[in-house]
Amino acid sequence: MEAADPSCGIACCDAHNHLHDPPLQGCFDMEPGGAPLPRISAMVVNGTHPGDWDAVGAVAGPPGTRILRAYGIHPWRVGRLPPHWEQQLRARLRAGAASVGEIGVDHWIEPRDERLQIDVFERQLALAAELRLPPSIHCVRAWGLLLDILRAAPPLPRGFLVHGFGGSRETLFEILDLGGHVSFSAYAAHPRRQRAREAIRACPADRLLAETDAPDMVPPAAVCRYPLAAPDGAPLHHPAEIATATAFLAETRGEPLPLLAARIEATFEALFGRPADSHTGSISD
Ligand SMILES: [Zn+2]
Repeated sequence: MEAADPSCGIACCDAHNHLHDPPLQGCFDMEPGGAPLPRISAMVVNGTHPGDWDAVGAVAGPPGTRILRAYGIHPWRVGRLPPHWEQQLRARLRAGAASVGEIGVDHWIEPRDERLQIDVFERQLALAAELRLPPSIHCVRAWGLLLDILRAAPPLPRGFLVHGFGGSRETLFEILDLGGHVSFSAYAAHPRRQRAREAIRACPADRLLAETDAPDMVPPAAVCRYPLAAPDGAPLHHPAEIATATAFLAETRGEPLPLLAARIEATFEALFGRPADSHTGSISD
């Protein structure tokens, strides 16, 4: 019989989601699809623009889950920013954050103002360096640009995460050389995501994290254990699928799930901070 909880009761860590997004409101209030909810020990909830930072600050997770907060401006949201966004972001980060996110560069979205994307991204990387926070980075079809920017950026003492990694094996090793981590969701189970699966296998264990990016990047229906839909019927990625993601990574790498889950938790804490020092957003050395 199919195991209802793909992580078999093992605690999972979600390195990148958007739990504050309105479509996910109340998603942990009941057991979706009848499957028992997995244990999620921690998650990083990412803002995408000044208008959602209050919601990130107020979001509550399921009982027993440590909520870490990330504030940032997504490359799709760089237009029409308030004039003092940088000061507002610095204040948010200083008041309590574990990461600067979601930030990055994107050559897929149309139309786009590339110069503005780069400017906003570089300024947020500088804030991450100044406040000693690891950024959570989005990159689509802009790998060369991302690497150029990271090489020129001030050093990031805590490292950084490239979430939902979809680059080549060569790019993966460039990111690792720069001190980066990468994370993957069960979205990589889509047949066309062959390159992501190769990166999952090639990534050193101590740089690998699991994520959902919920409510976005919905995995193939065949692997989803916690089906969720928007009012218009469009499928959404339930954050409980972090258990599916963790099990998928273990299967793809051919590693025992308990071993991989424990290593992911240790890597997550090394990057974002342990319970005692990060969830209050301490930025001291
Ligand atoms: Zn995201």
